[in-house]
This record gives sequence, C-alpha cells and structure tokens, in this order.
Amino acid sequence: MNYIILDLEWDSTFFVKQKRFINQILQIGAVKLDNKFNVIDTFEVTIKSSISKRVTGRFASLTGITNEVMRNGVLFPEAVERYNAWVGEDTVTMTWSNSDLYTIIENEDNLLDGQRFKIEKYLDLQKYIQKEMYLKGYEDKNQVSLSLAAEFLEVKTDDIDFHTAKDDSLVCAYLLKKCYNKERFEPLIKDTSNPEFFKRLKFRSYCISNLKDGNIDKKYLEFKCPKCQGNAKRVSKWKYSNRWFMANFICECGERFNGRVTFKKTYDDLIVRQKICEFKEKKQKQNQQEVTV
Ligand SMILES: [Zn+2]
Repeated sequence: MNYIILDLEWDSTFFVKQKRFINQILQIGAVKLDNKFNVIDTFEVTIKSSISKRVTGRFASLTGITNEVMRNGVLFPEAVERYNAWVGEDTVTMTWSNSDLYTIIENEDNLLDGQRFKIEKYLDLQKYIQKEMYLKGYEDKNQVSLSLAAEFLEVKTDDIDFHTAKDDSLVCAYLLKKCYNKERFEPLIKDTSNPEFFKRLKFRSYCISNLKDGNIDKKYLEFKCPKCQGNAKRVSKWKYSNRWFMANFICECGERFNGRVTFKKTYDDLIVRQKICEFKEKKQKQNQQEVTV
C-alpha cells in the first residue's frame, strides 16, 4: 500500500457560464509515500484555465503561479489524466483538511466531462494531525494550519515554500512520519466507493430556524436555574433571531433570566448550544402610550 498526499492550489474565478465565482484548480501537487512514509515520488502539474485568462493578484503572489505560468500550463482534463496515471493502484489519498475534496467535486461537476480524480481511499490528514497534537498538549479548537502544525510539532521547514502544492505535500509527509500511530490512523481511512462518503461530504450543515423541526427534542427547550439548579418556567414566547431561539424564564427561587438555544444540523449530529443571558424586560410600546395620552 502506498500513500498519496494531494495538495491543490485554486483561485477564485468568475465562471461566465453560471454567472458566479468558482474555485478553479490551477495546480495539482502530490507526493507518493511508501508504507514507512518515505517520499518515493513527486508530482506537479500546472493547469491552463479554460474559463479565464488571468489569475488574481493574491493567488499569484501566494503561489508563484502568475498569468504567464498559468497560460503555459496544460488543460484540466489532460492534467487530471496525468495525475490519475501517476497515482497508480492500491493507494490511500490524503489532503490537509477536506476542503480540497469540496473543490475537487466542484471542479469535476463544472469543468470536466465525466472525468474524476482517482481517489479510492481517503483520509483527512489535518483532522488526524490535530488529534495527535491534542494528545501532545495542544489546546486551540480552531482548525490548525499546516505551518502552525509544523511549528508545534517541530518539523523543519527552512527549505519549504508554503503554498506551493508540492512543498505543502512534503510538509504533510514530514508531519505524518513524526506522528504516525497505526491504531489511531487506520480507523480514519474512508472508502470513497461507499455512497455515504460523498453524501456526507455534500451535506450542508444548517441552523434550524423552526422549533417544530423534527430534529429538535423538547428537552433542549428546558432550562435549569443558574442559581439553584431548579427547573425554571418559561414566561414568554420563543423568539428567533440570528440563529438563536430565546425566551424569558423565571425560577421558583425568584431568579429571572433569558434562556437561549441554537441548533445546528450536521450530517451525523444535531449540535445544541444553550446559554443564559439577562432577563429581557418588555419594552413599553411607544405608540400605545401615545394613544392613551
Ligand atoms: Zn432558582
């Protein structure tokens, strides 16, 4: 079994045909590793856009892929064909966070005619490395960047040019070599031929805005008093604003507060967050006052 670390560079490009911007892949970089994570081959191809003559200035300065470099690239179908041939058989493909996969799907669906990137088994390397970092004392919950991971894990990057596809892949390989643990690594390998894999990937998580939604269990609408832990009683209607449901509560002990709850539906889970804020006094209705005066 070999391992592929795939890294794409993409640029936001206006797609005239659909009157919207898409993340167009302009470089495919990858390294191939043996089963001890030694680099045995590298791959890089720059793509000549078929929908744009220019790259953005930001992209050019980040990646070194200027307009001229891009125009000297090969067309996308040719690049994917070369990549697939290079990948070979019996491989696990990894990317740094699964955002590359979203970009691949978007590009396959819009810019290729039925052709697909060859990815049979897949692992999200960012997810794996961040888990390993937590075991080594790292605490930040935000998604860690490649350069930050390299710094934390003390991987040498003196000769590395971040944001070129091939060098980013090399850093991934170094990180993996440093952090590999068979028991924790192998369960994260996903089989992309399982239809669940792309269903899960294409699922867009969303915030629930209707309390009658079947995913919501009534118990999430109950609040404990922050003072005495007793069951507080709701004394106002639920209001929904900016992803939060909110209502006033009063406890038997006299404590009053505004209970807030938000629901995010992901493919696998319902993520619930509750918080307790200051009791919302009813605003005097001004126009009512005016009438009575
Ligand atoms: Zn209470």
